[in-house]
Amino acid sequence: MTSPASPSNVQPRAPDFAEWRKLAGALSFQNLAFINGEFVPAKSGRVFPSVNPATGETLTEVAECDAADIDRAVAAARRAFDSGEWAKMHPARRGRRLQRLADLILRDQNTLALLDSLDMGKPISDAWGLDVPGAAGIFRYYGQAADKVCGEIAPSDADATALISREPIGVVGAVVPWNYPLDMLAWKCAPALAAGCCVVLKPAEQSPLSALHFAALTLEAGLPPGVFNVAPGFGETAGAAIGRHPDVDCVAFTGSTEVGKKFLTYAGESGIRPVWLECGGKSPNLVFADADNLERAAAESAAGIFFNQGEVCSANSRLLVERKIRGDFVSAIAERAGDWQPGDPLDPATTMGAIVDEAQLRRIEDCVSRGKAEGARVVCGGEAVTVNGRGWFYPPTILEGVRGGMCVAREEIFGPALSVLEFGDEAEAVRMANDTIYGLAASIWTGSLSRAHRLSRELRAGTVSVNKVDAFSMHTPFGGFKQSGY
Ligand code: NAD
Repeated sequence: MTSPASPSNVQPRAPDFAEWRKLAGALSFQNLAFINGEFVPAKSGRVFPSVNPATGETLTEVAECDAADIDRAVAAARRAFDSGEWAKMHPARRGRRLQRLADLILRDQNTLALLDSLDMGKPISDAWGLDVPGAAGIFRYYGQAADKVCGEIAPSDADATALISREPIGVVGAVVPWNYPLDMLAWKCAPALAAGCCVVLKPAEQSPLSALHFAALTLEAGLPPGVFNVAPGFGETAGAAIGRHPDVDCVAFTGSTEVGKKFLTYAGESGIRPVWLECGGKSPNLVFADADNLERAAAESAAGIFFNQGEVCSANSRLLVERKIRGDFVSAIAERAGDWQPGDPLDPATTMGAIVDEAQLRRIEDCVSRGKAEGARVVCGGEAVTVNGRGWFYPPTILEGVRGGMCVAREEIFGPALSVLEFGDEAEAVRMANDTIYGLAASIWTGSLSRAHRLSRELRAGTVSVNKVDAFSMHTPFGGFKQSGY
């Protein structure tokens, strides 16, 4: 019988603001690369600052890996793979170790949440309540899946047996962005590790700290040295070295479309290897006048662009609204924008944190001001702000009067800026929605079941949510069309 106090049925309590500040003050950072089961400096001895975007302060100096370190990490992963200790371990045993990792992620929920919040500016409540449990869930899911993958017997002549067996591909190079540091790590690494692969991960230079804390957990969970390696560093050096390394068997990349294309080039220049790409988006959110609950649609549409500071690949950044309800609907979203005002990321009441760094803030500002120059009108927001007199923050911003050719209708802003376009009928809405180089996600708000089914197929988007935004789960694929990757 489980006692009422056993860990399995006690819900952890989130710290309050004062407690988070105290925990943050006492936090120590792992800042070395993790190669072959050891924390080591970069071969060059170089370091780069990890900066808290809410304050502009340097949290720590992190080992700056380059091609020489990637060589070391890939060699360690290759040795670990070839030894068979992980790849040939019984899948159920391997799976149990990944589930142990899930438990350790939850054990360190406060620390991991703090690291992501301090490193990239996201609200602590989201990091603690969503990202960390999300990452644990991903490791648990793939840990449980490890021994559920079966081979097949193919048709053959009667005197032969054709077996189809699924094998780990070998060394996986994983390169990830900064918007969900821990969850992106989990998306990339959990399935690869479950299959028996060994991984070299390069976190984004803006947010390497949670990956380095996580690295220590892999040893505690019983992953042999070399199975999981972390090489922090910059894209043009460490990232490119992973993309070009002849001994990397497969690359798993999440990030911008521009860099995704580079990984295809790297693979072609240095040999042939699969490259999995999860890239950018400019996702449309179609609101029809026949939607059952326009108030809810407005609240969710606001969340769809303002959550995580709009730094979400699938953010509903283009609002396509039926002409006859445009005015009222835009007013309703503008009202909801009040729920998303920038605040101190460590305050549990904050819903919108800091923009990841100054460069990203300038990109948002630049795109919005070009949009204004092309004729877009600012309904709210539109100017960078500070919180407590410092940091890089941008308020929820709505741009009206946007037409299809404008930069704010075409470019991924990757910030809390919503572009509003209007349509007259369904055919025009579909044409506008698909008029983009991207195809990651879309949402439809309608009371018509047949319209929902029809448009789910007509919209060229990897995931289409109906009367909801971002209805994703572990159990549905997160695919893409066109330049959003595959
Ligand atoms: P980015 O493409 O600039 O960087 C992503 C990663 O690639 C980082 O680790 C970076 O260091 C590395 N990199 C950068 N330049 C490189 C180069 N020349 N060679 C090799 N590696 C290089 O993207 P970002 O700014 O970190 O993240 C934002 C982008 O990520 C947005 O476009 C967003 O839509 C996308 N994203 C997509 C998904 C998805 O699942 N489709 C999820 C999250 C983010």
